[in-house]
Amino acid sequence: METTAIKAYGNEAADAQLTQLNINRRKPTPHDVAIEILFCGVCHSDLHTARSEWGPTIYPCVPGHEIVGKVVSVGDHVSKFKVGDVVGVGCMVDSCRECEYCKEGLEQYCEPGMTGTYNSPDKNLPGNPTFGGYSESIVVDENYVLHIPENLDLAATAPLLCAGITTYSPLHHWNVGPDKKVGIVGIGGLGHMGIKIAKAMGAHVVAFTTSESKFAEAKRLGADEVVLSKDAEQMAAFRGKLHFVLDAVSAEHDINAYLSLLRVDGSLALVGAPEHPLPVAAFSLIVGRKSFAGSAIGGIQETQEMLDFCGKHNITADIEMIDIQNINQAYDRLLKGDVNYRFVIDMISLKNKNV
Ligand code: NAP
Ligand code: ZN
Ligand code: ZN
Repeated sequence: METTAIKAYGNEAADAQLTQLNINRRKPTPHDVAIEILFCGVCHSDLHTARSEWGPTIYPCVPGHEIVGKVVSVGDHVSKFKVGDVVGVGCMVDSCRECEYCKEGLEQYCEPGMTGTYNSPDKNLPGNPTFGGYSESIVVDENYVLHIPENLDLAATAPLLCAGITTYSPLHHWNVGPDKKVGIVGIGGLGHMGIKIAKAMGAHVVAFTTSESKFAEAKRLGADEVVLSKDAEQMAAFRGKLHFVLDAVSAEHDINAYLSLLRVDGSLALVGAPEHPLPVAAFSLIVGRKSFAGSAIGGIQETQEMLDFCGKHNITADIEMIDIQNINQAYDRLLKGDVNYRFVIDMISLKNKNV
């Protein structure tokens, strides 16, 4: 297949910094949309993957799956998009399209496996991994491209493509709404979106943070109550009180402490994906018939539904814009929880500077 060389940012090994490199993108096929990338959010999954924390990463690795850009060309058979449209690409760029889950709109659980936006085998360029949004442009089948609501700020919308859908999907699945008390644990990129979305769904939202600095902030984001999770007394006040807990913590922590906050028949859904297993005590689940679950991003149709929901409720991420040349410092800060609340790369920086 014909390819075009473009500029990107990535790394060559788990312990290597990200630097500028060239990658090849396929020439658009009749079903493809070619997108010039304007903004790309920085997800903690980018860091886990670049550093090979989730099993062997394929190098070079070009992360980035919170992409907003402009359509620069469309294939002959493309019907959903036209040149000039502002579009989004999230965590997946393909799936088998035939299994029962793909047919149900649960492409993220595709039986043979979805094609991740980065670090997946590229079906179109055999022998190569897919490369993500830390790059000038991307070519994606139109069925995996999203429409961006017109009223939203584009840079602040980029994080919806992963952080937004990853929190919206479980909140929706577990029927969060006006009569529900919901805990959101870990107020980072995902967690801060979880607060905003759960609040817009009408729930009573309780934010749990390890950071004293985020205490007041969580209320500004929409939480009704905030708990400093290191304080045993504050935690005890919520024992048995919550219908649902969404855990978006990126590192090891005591999951049993959060299971104890659930009411009878309550569920805790883990979206955070720490490198190491989290031990769960049998009695944390047995007493109270509680469920410990997980959830991965969301399907394509559900992602569009989430974007439309955010358009309607005027929800975007709180972002700190960076140049691509500062990505390594951004990762260091992400590890320290020092971000309010999502870094977004202004991709013009990749075009303008040669570092
Ligand atoms: P992030 O912005 O770095 O936020 C993670 C938050 O977790 C931090 O802000 C911090 O919140 C809390 N935290 C960090 N270290 C902690 C520790 N040692 N103990 C307790 N709390 C700690 O990360 P993110 O981008 O939101 O991603 C969160 C996790 O979700 C990552 O593991 C990511 O890979 C995963 N993820 C999963 C999916 C999925 O489909 N399931 C999708 C995207 C991301 P406080 O300061 O408030 O305590
Ligand atoms: Zn992500
Ligand atoms: Zn499938």
